[in-house]
Amino acid sequence: MQDRFIHCIANMPETLADNLVPLLNDNFVGHIDAQQLEDLMTATGLAEDELLLALLPVAAALASPPISDFHVGAIAKGKSGDIYMGANLELNNEALFHSVHAEQSAISHAWLSGETAIEDIIVNATPCGHCRQFMNELVGGQKIKIHLPAQETKPLSYYLPYAFGPGDLNITTPLLSKQLHEFCLESSDPMVIEALDHASLSYAPYTKNYAAVVLETRDGQTFCGRYAENAAFNPSMLPMQMALSAMARHNRDFSEINRALLLESSQGKISLVGAAMNALHALTSVELEHIVIDPI
Ligand SMILES: [Zn+2]
Repeated sequence: MQDRFIHCIANMPETLADNLVPLLNDNFVGHIDAQQLEDLMTATGLAEDELLLALLPVAAALASPPISDFHVGAIAKGKSGDIYMGANLELNNEALFHSVHAEQSAISHAWLSGETAIEDIIVNATPCGHCRQFMNELVGGQKIKIHLPAQETKPLSYYLPYAFGPGDLNITTPLLSKQLHEFCLESSDPMVIEALDHASLSYAPYTKNYAAVVLETRDGQTFCGRYAENAAFNPSMLPMQMALSAMARHNRDFSEINRALLLESSQGKISLVGAAMNALHALTSVELEHIVIDPI
């Protein structure tokens, strides 16, 4: 089991801890598939709701909050039945707008894993206004069920009445629905090709700045982030923050970054290069490679 889970396992009911420990091996990054979840329910006798709430401390152990030292975990349950954990991320010494909230981390985890809808969000405390607006951008956003300890489960529409969302701006394919934007780029560099794949799946209906970030660590592993915009513009989730959040879930230190690449559309109304550079340079002296791509 990874060291970062020792504390939360020690505070769990014994049957749950015994059945969870084998899952928390070196490869665990916060994903539990539908079958594993079913097996945990059978072994512990817990109802799904109870189990998901009991798993929140595991999600919180994925956090990287050097400023607040406040570990927040969230779980997104996808349409497939799999669950995806996420946790808050803060960049040391940098402005707080670079922070990622646990719900955003969990949702981006599900999106990067190929989920096309989120049905449930499980979180310890009522989602903040920022996260309510971020979740409202998702496919079926208003119907997403929010599960909280000792509170009746309610849809997002209960927590965000009179919502302003993608439908108000005539967007019919909201966040997590299939995006496919095509660009011309010839490259044999695997990192560039990976970034191109993610940029084509990114969600930027408001600025058309389809973009992705790929970070490579010294051992050759890569971590990707796609741009995810919001009808309210802010909170959007920047691709650098999404990639860093993925690294944190994988328990990788940012000092291991060896290469960093931002790829973005030439047709966007904005550029993410300054924001991506600021976030990157808070963590490493590695220079950001920047590639601008033309749509087909
Ligand atoms: Zn939040």
